[in-house]
Amino acid sequence: MNDTRVEQLIAELLREIGEDPAREGLQKTPARVAQAFKFLTAGYGQELRAVVNDAVFTAASHDMIICRDIEIYSLCEHHLLPFYGKCHIGYIPRQKLLGISKLARIVNMFARRLQIQERLTAQIADAIQQVTGAVGVGVVLECRHMCMMMRGVEKQNSSLTTSSVLGSFRDELSTRTEFLDLIGR
Ligand SMILES: [Zn+2]
Repeated sequence: MNDTRVEQLIAELLREIGEDPAREGLQKTPARVAQAFKFLTAGYGQELRAVVNDAVFTAASHDMIICRDIEIYSLCEHHLLPFYGKCHIGYIPRQKLLGISKLARIVNMFARRLQIQERLTAQIADAIQQVTGAVGVGVVLECRHMCMMMRGVEKQNSSLTTSSVLGSFRDELSTRTEFLDLIGR
């Protein structure tokens, strides 16, 4: 990202909405916005292999592993406004376990891009499947979208739930039911 160019664009945006980018409170705003966007879109510069960094452990376990309530913050690609909420992940390992902090890192890698919630959910599930070779993976996202809450229909208490299930989570009703029970759905 070219910071200087982005700062110029934000100053231009401020002028177009009727603001004065030179007034005291806004003088540093273009630079702050540029840095914020750099952070919020850092996922574009990351790749799965580096994020996981070999933190895959061999274990005999075939029991379902659940990680609930991972905080998630992303930007909708339609309005560049935030959506945020919780991510629940379950998987049944095939002798390979992923360090728990790596689950959160995978979530952040995909959330820090412009997204729609459905694709974000699928990308997280696919990535976990890819790095662990799991028997099955389930991911559920429950998010609130600022583009819905602040503008448009202004529905402030609605949230969107999306899920992606792979392998045994897709094929076996009992596995899927166990997953949904464990995440409290
Ligand atoms: Zn939106």
